Amino acid sequence: MLNGSLSKESWYLIHIDGLVQGVGFRPFIYRLATEMQLSGMVGNRNDGVFIKIRGSENDLRNFENRIRKESPPAACIHSISIHKSEPELLDDFRIIESKNTSEEITGVSPDIAVCADCLEDMERQIHRKDYPFINCTNCGPRFSIIKELPYDRHFTSMEPFRMCKSCNSEYTDVADRRFHAQPIACNVCGPVYRMISGKEVLYSLDDILNELSEGITSGKVYALKGTGGFHLMCDAWNQAAVLRIREIKKRDAKPFAIMASGISEIKENAEVDENEERLLQSWQRPIVLLKSKGRLAGAVSNGLNKVGVMLPYMPFHYLMFKKLKTQHLVLTSGNITDEPILIGNEEASSVFGNSVDGIIDYNREIYNRADDSVCIVVNEKPMILRRSRAFTPQPVFLNLQVEGIFAAGAELVNSFCIGKAKQAIMSQYIGDLKNLETLSFYEETYSRFEKLFRFKPRLVAMDMHPDYLSSRFASDLSEKHHIPLVKIQHHHAHIASVMASHQLDTEVIGVSFDGTGMGDDGKIRGAEFLAADLVDFERLLHFEEIPLPGGDRASIECWRMAVSYLYRVFGEELFALDLPLFRSIEENKVSGIVQLIEKRINSPMVSSAGRLFDAVSSIIGLVHYNSFQAEAAMRLEASINPFEKRRYDFDLSGESISFTPTIKQIVADCQQGIGQDDIAAKFHNTIVEVVVDSCMNLAKERANKIIVLSGGTFQNHFLSAAVEKRLSAAGLKVYLPKSVPVNDQGIALGQLAVAAKRHSSGLI
Ligand code: ZN
Ligand code: ZN
Ligand code: FE
Repeated sequence: MLNGSLSKESWYLIHIDGLVQGVGFRPFIYRLATEMQLSGMVGNRNDGVFIKIRGSENDLRNFENRIRKESPPAACIHSISIHKSEPELLDDFRIIESKNTSEEITGVSPDIAVCADCLEDMERQIHRKDYPFINCTNCGPRFSIIKELPYDRHFTSMEPFRMCKSCNSEYTDVADRRFHAQPIACNVCGPVYRMISGKEVLYSLDDILNELSEGITSGKVYALKGTGGFHLMCDAWNQAAVLRIREIKKRDAKPFAIMASGISEIKENAEVDENEERLLQSWQRPIVLLKSKGRLAGAVSNGLNKVGVMLPYMPFHYLMFKKLKTQHLVLTSGNITDEPILIGNEEASSVFGNSVDGIIDYNREIYNRADDSVCIVVNEKPMILRRSRAFTPQPVFLNLQVEGIFAAGAELVNSFCIGKAKQAIMSQYIGDLKNLETLSFYEETYSRFEKLFRFKPRLVAMDMHPDYLSSRFASDLSEKHHIPLVKIQHHHAHIASVMASHQLDTEVIGVSFDGTGMGDDGKIRGAEFLAADLVDFERLLHFEEIPLPGGDRASIECWRMAVSYLYRVFGEELFALDLPLFRSIEENKVSGIVQLIEKRINSPMVSSAGRLFDAVSSIIGLVHYNSFQAEAAMRLEASINPFEKRRYDFDLSGESISFTPTIKQIVADCQQGIGQDDIAAKFHNTIVEVVVDSCMNLAKERANKIIVLSGGTFQNHFLSAAVEKRLSAAGLKVYLPKSVPVNDQGIALGQLAVAAKRHSSGLI
């Protein structure tokens, strides 16, 4: 009887929700159903993919299992629902062409690293022998080449290339791996590379690779066109070449990313655990920050103990490593410091033409620029620090209706976010909105998103800081469309961003630590403990306020903050202290700052975790000037002696958290000649304790066990890992963001969520 019902055939309607369009999902379902001899159909719908099949309950169960297990690498199944359905008059299985135009909205997939099958085809298929643009339905460029929807070849920058006969027959054969692979191409019909060095131009791939290999070995520097923009490239073992790239980028001091030929080559220079290995090999191929063994040229990581590494992700990268003698290349974004990554061939040749030894580009346009994404593993979970290539425009699935909401983001490491139904689509990493170039990248990207996702704004969200260029863009947009504008406090947005990424919609205790964000009273804040939900927040606790002498200049000149803390603790006696700081900064400069503070000239009161890290870093003589954002904090973290478990005292008894005892003990340690590594460790242990103690107290007081950690300071691996472990062990539920950056790039998602929730609650 049971067997009878299991083998009885019926018709079923299966609905699959998630990232299932533009990633080769329908051909996969077709092949699976055909293999299992099930009849029916598959098609795209605006809310995912639907399948109708005829089969027994057993078939259905196997079918569902195999969908979950074998779906294409870039697909991400959110849910599968199954219902009985009306019978269809079908004896075979077919792919139904989609007619609904709005359905393509979810059809824009991120760029996908070349797959293993294609790498094999690159050796096997005659028309694709060593073809550097090989791709299939599972891999290849997507977001970077799309101009318009639907995602069809003629709306991508593949449009000028006419498919040859073989490509066309693969493209139209539903059983082929390249069925409807829009960027399909081969040696006969597709794009080609070229190399320009001086007056010489090479077109033969062999010549290019030979020349490149010799050049890299002899220390030359090249610009190489990638998926989402140009890279600058050289041998990562060659100090002089690496320093040359720093000059070309106009003295960029940030650590450079490395591309290594394989995992074992990465391990030669860095420690890699299994979670990091999985992340490195994922189809997104992000840059992963790893603990460096310090073997490559010193100028790569510039004295930091972490190195950002990625594996090859374009066919050309693989071909290149076959020829190269070195297995480690610097592969850093091809831009001038603080400007967007370059994408145009002519642009690259005018900016880099005179400074590099050669430019390797190709004749397909990059339409949407995207830097490499950056991740780190914290307590065995990936955390994303820069969300761009291979993540954009993958939506963040929400529990909220966000249609028509535009969230402008903040200022530094900016990204904006648009709402479509219950999905948030974040823009790629735009950068620091401080110059015309990044602003025009922002504006251009907004108009592309508007068109691509058929986005009609009906509500605009922005930061409270009126001078951010993103805020100005937001208010202009709201005026232009006559739609409401809502201002969302920076730290509330930080917390809401993490909540939205986990679909949390309840009251939480939020810890938001960063450099600076404007409070609703116009004060600058960056060390906040909040009780927050998606509608509103209450400020529970914060770091003691301290003068920020010289305003914004103090975020670059850390020593100003050091003087500010020392003056708070020691008053005029600070001049008598024997500190490393005073060996680098002249006394008259120090007294100048003391004057500013005393006379309260341009010295707003701030409460900021970032500035406290700056101050400590400078007091102990590590960094006095930030040559890139968060340098002082990064070097302080890099100095930690992991065996030092002690900490300093702090004061939780007042209305705010005071570090007067901490600073006193740090000064005492300095005067006793205690090493920077021990002080750095004790200071970090202190901050961990401050967060843990405060959260435990607040959790008890508010009878709330949910803790959310957010803000750029939590990019500090030591801090995030230790706080999460300690609070979880104490029985609290701790959240760091999932799939969005913890820094200001994540702000837009938080703004979007708060605006949506306020709107649905009738508050807007
Ligand atoms: Zn492939
Ligand atoms: Zn072809
Ligand atoms: Fe922030």
